Amino acid sequence: MPQSKAGEPVPFVDLGAQLKGIRPEIDEAIAGVLERGDYILGESVELFEQEFAAYCQSRFAVGVDSGTSGLELALAAFDIGAGDEVITAANTFIATALAISHVGAVPVLVDIDPGTFVMDVAQVESVITPATRAIMPVHLYGYPVDLEPLMELADRRGLVVIEDASQAHGARYHGRRVGGFGHAAVFSLYPAKNLGAFGDAGVIVTNDPSIDQALRLARNYGSLVKYHHLTKGRNRRLDTLQAAILRVKLPHLDAWNQARRANAAAYDQLLDASRAVIPPPRAAEGVEPVYHLYVVRSPDRDGLARHLRDDGISTVIHYPVPIHLQAAYADLGHGEGDFPLTEGYAREVLSLPMYPELAAGAIERVVASIERFAPAGRLASESIWAGT
Ligand SMILES: *Cc1c(COP(=O)(O)O)cnc(C)c1O
Repeated sequence: MPQSKAGEPVPFVDLGAQLKGIRPEIDEAIAGVLERGDYILGESVELFEQEFAAYCQSRFAVGVDSGTSGLELALAAFDIGAGDEVITAANTFIATALAISHVGAVPVLVDIDPGTFVMDVAQVESVITPATRAIMPVHLYGYPVDLEPLMELADRRGLVVIEDASQAHGARYHGRRVGGFGHAAVFSLYPAKNLGAFGDAGVIVTNDPSIDQALRLARNYGSLVKYHHLTKGRNRRLDTLQAAILRVKLPHLDAWNQARRANAAAYDQLLDASRAVIPPPRAAEGVEPVYHLYVVRSPDRDGLARHLRDDGISTVIHYPVPIHLQAAYADLGHGEGDFPLTEGYAREVLSLPMYPELAAGAIERVVASIERFAPAGRLASESIWAGT
């Protein structure tokens, strides 16, 4: 493992480091598409779909042009639209809610589980109405939502579950990969995700042959046979060059996730000793996260971020404004205080550098810098979360 020298900048992610190890295979895969000339769908998309479905232990996978598109097409495939409500978390990337809105449905939000930062499954039942059609759990930062009680509730109330697994490629819950629990699941393949293309891409998995068929039509002008259109489909196909690139990357995903977990464990150990910030919660029994992000909390988050930046360490806030306080969602009629845990979280969270190739020395350098800003034990005990 490369060692980071004291004072060397630490980027938030380093896609170049990942590319270095696989460059010859990538070049070969791209050359293969150019030689075949099957630029639309074609061999690479078909094989990537088979390989990704197998990876997720799902029957089918359908490649699409982005994660947001995938969420929208998945909702539409279950005939969810105008007049319907879809329950999701207030603490998510806005694309989850946008997809719900773009099919004409209304996102209904719940707060986060106080022990983690993902959807509080215990709150879901209380917001079900006669208009509720679906639940969209988000495995945020690569941490699986508590899927067993969620699926039990969905079955009992006759609701569709579409997992937003855009940050959780390869994560496991009770021994099985996320994506195989819901009626469908969507993975963004945006470049910085655990499995990322070199541009926009996404994929939907399902075990339901009729949903697989509906998705294949929806992404390709409603057509399976050229110039014969069964539905008013769209053009939302997975790009063939991206599929070829993804096929090279997929066999590395487990090793990359393992490296992320090792990096998270190194951060955990150093931060436990210092208590200068609150580390992310430890995984619950039977939950195997994949650390898309490593998110700490500090009551002086903005000061800490500035200090780290001045020290050459890049951080990001995921996410500074919860869905219900976004200008785009003023129409939901929510205000400050409606989802207090999510709001507290948005004020305190800071994502530290996290990627598979992150050097042990860089992790030590990040923690040493945090400790210079926050004398051991002080900030953590002042957090609004102290004692939770
Ligand atoms: C990245 C992401 C999306 C959107 O995916 P795109 O490929 O950028 O459209 C949706 N939901 C979550 C939770 C994400 O992290």
